[in-house]
Amino acid sequence: MSGPFTLSPLPFEESALEPVISRQTLSFHYGKHHAAYVEKLNGLVKGTCYADMKLEDVVKETHHVKSGGDKAIFNNAGQVWNHDFYWRSLSPNSAKPAGALKDAIDTYGGEKKLIEDIAAAGVAQFGSGWVWLTSENGAIRIEKTTNAETPMARGVNCLLTVDVWEHAYYLDYQNARAKYLNEVLARILNWDFAAKNLAQEDHPVRAAA
Ligand code: MN
Repeated sequence: MSGPFTLSPLPFEESALEPVISRQTLSFHYGKHHAAYVEKLNGLVKGTCYADMKLEDVVKETHHVKSGGDKAIFNNAGQVWNHDFYWRSLSPNSAKPAGALKDAIDTYGGEKKLIEDIAAAGVAQFGSGWVWLTSENGAIRIEKTTNAETPMARGVNCLLTVDVWEHAYYLDYQNARAKYLNEVLARILNWDFAAKNLAQEDHPVRAAA
């Protein structure tokens, strides 16, 4: 594979998320789907202004495009960024939310309500897409996006994401997207990654104590 964009290494072994996500699913999802988006993107950007941009900037520059070659670049760049973010949103050593993240979740209505709302949004996403935990001025939000769309393209601060394309769960759960979401949300979310992302929001409004 050659080109400006690379397949980021998985932050864990392919079997590390079992039994929630099988080694077989990880192997196909990362090694085939994610890798193919990187390879396609590298082919599409050759000789274009996007070849020298950071991946984030390619996504931001092309996300408004409705059709044509730049739309294909968006679809593949978005999927590369989303998958990088998804792998980092998962962890075999899921620890409970703490600190400022726990405070933000408590303000939202608590962890139980948050998990239920993320699952409901993920189930409600029609067709392929993603469900996201984001923050705005330090407050927790839930969003869902279709296909390769990402809140990052609109400058929204992302905390976590879960892939709800069928390829993310079909080998393990067949059509039971809700069961996949419930297992992922209860057992392998990387809350430390979410806490770091929350702390990095560009312009948080810090409430007076
Ligand atoms: Mn995927």
